[in-house]
Amino acid sequence: MRPSTQKQPQVKKEPCRVLDDVDVDVDVETDQKLVFNEKRFILMASQPPAKRRKEESSENSDDILASCMAKRAQVCASVADFKFNKKRVRLLSSSTDISDDCKAIAYWMWRDQRVQDNWALLYAQRMALKQEVPLVVCFCLPSKYLHSTFRQYSFMIKGLQQVEKELASLNINFHMLLGEPNMILPDFVKSENIGGIIADFTPLRKPIKWLNDVIDKLPKNVPVCQVDSHNIIPCWQASPKLEYGARTIRPKIHNQMREFLTEFPPVIKHPHAGKASIKTDWKAVDEFIEVDRNVQEVNWAEPGTKAGLEMLESFCKDRLKFFATDRNNPTKKGLSDLSPWFHAGQISVQRAILRVREFRGSSKDSVETFIEEAVVRRELADNFCFYNQEHYDSIKGAKDWAQKTLNDHAADKREYLYTREQLEKGQSHDDLWNAAQLQLVNEGKMHGFLRMYWAKKILEWTESAEEGLEISLYLNDKYSLDGTDPNGYVGCMWSVCGIHDQGWAERPVFGKIRYMNYNGCKRKFDVGEFVRKYGATTSKEADGPAKKRKKAK
Ligand SMILES: Cc1cc2nc3c(=O)[nH]c(=O)nc-3n(C[C@H](O)[C@H](O)[C@H](O)COP(=O)(O)OP(=O)(O)OC[C@H]3O[C@@H](n4cnc5c(N)ncnc54)[C@H](O)[C@@H]3O)c2cc1C
Repeated sequence: MRPSTQKQPQVKKEPCRVLDDVDVDVDVETDQKLVFNEKRFILMASQPPAKRRKEESSENSDDILASCMAKRAQVCASVADFKFNKKRVRLLSSSTDISDDCKAIAYWMWRDQRVQDNWALLYAQRMALKQEVPLVVCFCLPSKYLHSTFRQYSFMIKGLQQVEKELASLNINFHMLLGEPNMILPDFVKSENIGGIIADFTPLRKPIKWLNDVIDKLPKNVPVCQVDSHNIIPCWQASPKLEYGARTIRPKIHNQMREFLTEFPPVIKHPHAGKASIKTDWKAVDEFIEVDRNVQEVNWAEPGTKAGLEMLESFCKDRLKFFATDRNNPTKKGLSDLSPWFHAGQISVQRAILRVREFRGSSKDSVETFIEEAVVRRELADNFCFYNQEHYDSIKGAKDWAQKTLNDHAADKREYLYTREQLEKGQSHDDLWNAAQLQLVNEGKMHGFLRMYWAKKILEWTESAEEGLEISLYLNDKYSLDGTDPNGYVGCMWSVCGIHDQGWAERPVFGKIRYMNYNGCKRKFDVGEFVRKYGATTSKEADGPAKKRKKAK
């Protein structure tokens, strides 16, 4: 299914000059034009394989950065010499040629807010090296974005401060442009005489609209490419259509893993200097944003690539071995906790998988389970949003059976009804639900197992499936550090309207949508321990036998 209301960027099938400039393409067997150059790389590939580093060693934070650098350096000296897989790149504009007198190539960063391990930035550097021009990175910051609050903005901005410094050390200028991209990027491109733009990939409506608008407003001689740096298998490559579920996308992903799960080359110190850089005025950035400052930063998740890699190391060392057995137990520490850094693109999922896979020998089941979550489920979420753009966050995006069953039960009596405000304050009759809500509000991340229970109860306790979905999306996006993510839209849609799931035994309110209950949670983990940890209580009015609550006006 193709998105219907949002115009998809046009993808050119034939390789054009901006793509032809890629020396080689691993997989284009029939493209004779590329064969000549490919020979060069066959020679490269026949060089002795890089010495394998000791498996499963644990590293301190400086070691992690150094060891990642060493791994990249073993791939090649720079991306100019790299066998860049052209399937990672889509040409979006009608223009193809980079003008000879351009002054720079730009990487337009949005979803992948990191320097290294970033295929889009690498591709931009490759273009700039070929043209022998400076490389710039620009980030367009809207003053607000969906339900994001200061919590997510601060995490992002602090990460970007580190990006600016790292880029400066590589002779690459960073431009923080304040405003929505469609309003500011085209003028920037004209004033800086940018010859071509490499954008990263997101399947969400608003940034896709920005991208389309930017392409429309750019001078016609500025080509725009997109590189999916967020997924291991680029979204359009993993599958060309809306997938039914994990069962159908899993083999497609695993079949392509060998091709795409490769070590990254390094982003190198850029040899062509641009204009003297103007450092970002971060105070002005703080004054510019218009977000809810009542939702504050959390102290457990330090922003930035280095902190994200440290979290990855602590996961590999301390928690990975328990991932397969304990990940559904909210009282245990079995999860990676990586979602904030994945969401902001501060670390690459590909880097995480390359590292986690080194532990196959000792934690095979956990490694496989982690790959299932971080690759298959996550890429499935991108697939859902990309190919169902109009309705990825509405009941209309559900399968017909799910819409019908929810409709059949729309008039069912709800035993409890709560307003959004009551739910936001954790004022339900259910201490486990309240504890989960407190975890979300106070820590900015609810345990993955409870997220499902939490959203399903919102369906049960609100007037309609539409209202339940809206409230769950609102609360998730407002408080979760990893909010406004395809995973969140799909998580809420799975819970409330059964996407990627099957029909279950019919019951009130839920119809055939999978049901979860308190007793089921008690069988899985010590509910009391979790409730005590968050000091949750039940709302007084709801104590005693189940009764219908009046919604507060
Ligand atoms: C109602 C609901 C809302 C959710 N909202 C979000 C959200 O806003 N942002 C978000 O990133 N995830 C969301 N998820 C998916 C999942 O719960 C989180 O990704 C996970 O809890 C993040 O914690 P972690 O990094 O410790 O995960 P781990 O269990 O350690 O997993 C590692 C990574 O795998 C991916 N992953 C794990 N579970 C899923 C899943 N079910 N679907 C897709 N990818 C998955 C994530 O990228 C995660 O970081 C939601 C799920 C539900 C049911």
